[in-house]
Amino acid sequence: MKERVETNKRYHGIGVSPGIAIGKAFLFSTEKLEVPAFCYLDKAKLNYEVERFTDAVSTSKAQLQKIREKMLEDSKGRGREHVRIIDAHIMMMEDDMLVSDTISHIESEGVNAEWALKTVLQSIKEFFDEIEDEYLRERGSDIEYIGDRILSNLMGRKRERMPQIDEDVIIIARDLTPTDTAQIPGSKIRGFLTDLGGRTSHTAVFARAIEIPAIVGLDDITRVVSNGDMLIVDGSSGAVVINPAPEVLEEYRKIKEEFSSYEHDLHHYTSLPAVTVDGYTMKLMGNIEFVEEVPGLMEHGAEGVGLYRTEYLYLNRRDLPSEDEHFQAYKKVAEMVAPHDTIVRTFDIGGDKLLSQMENLDEANPALGLRAIRFCLKKTDIFKTQLRGILRASVFGKVKVMFPMISGIKELRMAKAILDDARMELRKEGKAYDEDIEIGIMIEVPSAALIADLLAKEVDFFSIGTNDLLQYCLAIDRGNDHVDYLYDPLHPAILRIIKSVVRAARYAGIEVGLCGEIAGEPQYTKVLIALGLDQLSMNALSVLRVKKEVRSLNYGEILKLTEENLAEPDAADVGKLIN
Ligand code: PEP
Ligand code: MG
Repeated sequence: MKERVETNKRYHGIGVSPGIAIGKAFLFSTEKLEVPAFCYLDKAKLNYEVERFTDAVSTSKAQLQKIREKMLEDSKGRGREHVRIIDAHIMMMEDDMLVSDTISHIESEGVNAEWALKTVLQSIKEFFDEIEDEYLRERGSDIEYIGDRILSNLMGRKRERMPQIDEDVIIIARDLTPTDTAQIPGSKIRGFLTDLGGRTSHTAVFARAIEIPAIVGLDDITRVVSNGDMLIVDGSSGAVVINPAPEVLEEYRKIKEEFSSYEHDLHHYTSLPAVTVDGYTMKLMGNIEFVEEVPGLMEHGAEGVGLYRTEYLYLNRRDLPSEDEHFQAYKKVAEMVAPHDTIVRTFDIGGDKLLSQMENLDEANPALGLRAIRFCLKKTDIFKTQLRGILRASVFGKVKVMFPMISGIKELRMAKAILDDARMELRKEGKAYDEDIEIGIMIEVPSAALIADLLAKEVDFFSIGTNDLLQYCLAIDRGNDHVDYLYDPLHPAILRIIKSVVRAARYAGIEVGLCGEIAGEPQYTKVLIALGLDQLSMNALSVLRVKKEVRSLNYGEILKLTEENLAEPDAADVGKLIN
């Protein structure tokens, strides 16, 4: 039994979808199945266990197919967001790593299907847990979801856990699966709180897609909250208040009203240009991972895709994506985004972030290891397959190609040489591609920033990746909480480095954008305009917010303000002066 939580108890997590939600707690079942273990089974029993297991896999696949159909029917399109994730789950159920290994385990260890599955899942899970990249690590939870479903079917438990909800509630869960979220009756849900998850977890992506406040990474909120507790969720700051006092409730109701009218007001900006009061235009583009994100992005008035992260194509599978899969994915996005640009970033995984398709590299410092372009230049066949797919898609819209993690000229030239090879092959095969496809690089390694003048002579555009640039420049691991306090986009070193990259781009006459998280945070818009960027690329939700901010600014005044302010030695002072 839980003790009743005292009034006004506050918790803090990672706010992943902004806004205020007020409502009663609804604990989404977090029941973990107790898995029975039987060993020393005879041959006949083992055959029966294998049969039970394959039946449970088939049933699970059929259930997912049904959920998938329901998602596609969803008229609001919020389900469609996750169809590819469900597809990946169905594929995982056909995967050798899971299915054959479990059958082998039943047969070699003489154990029951549940126990064999649990053991195999555990070892796959451990593999994912060691992955440093947050996004990829979270894909390990996909394994848990599908394992859980097969186990439930093996044990005759009903997996669909979402009951009828008749009043406004805040869903509390350890984590939410895409299949869970697909069944949530959206009209009654006011917010999400989860123990697990980060900015790229399913709950986060889903909450942002349906624009409901959410906080993840709360550790043990499922333990401290009881059904029916009154909750305030502040998805912007990551704060949760349990059983708030009347005056706190009143205060948040006011904030909520202000926020709602702000959000409502934002929709006026959809068709308006991102232009300052004195006529300076800023191009706002979107960051995407899935094709399903494109309609929302365009609805919010983005002028193209400034960063298409292609890692998703490589996830949740044992084989590598074929050239045709690459081609189809990029073609679809390019067609939807045309006549605007689609900047396809070649894949950015490697080091210990490799998936099952590739051998595991034992690296002590994976963030400084064989990742992104470095990996591609070692595995040129994998790289060229992707480049051929991008090139072929380039005749279906305005596609540009972008290389991540470039640290020097030699690397850039090698990457361009492979792109040339791919072009030559396609030409010989008589396959169409855009001869003038633009080539750009991400500036996210300090060495690249320092020689931006040299790199600018050999590419058509730059995109500054501040997520990594801050990590490498300030020597703070992106995933390490202990040094999170040092994360400061207004650090003078960051402002100087961005400024020098922009200057180099200007001098060479090429475009320079910025696609790290700060592009979508309105408190940095003024600084980013002052630094002279041509384009900012951000998640769909941020486009209207940043557009509103741009339209409230006066470019002439920003220019007057900045020269001396950007030279301030302390980031806090820069922030104060600028804002
Ligand atoms: C970045 O580093 O700023 C960036 C946009 O790339 P990613 O977050 O995918 O590493
Ligand atoms: Mg990066």
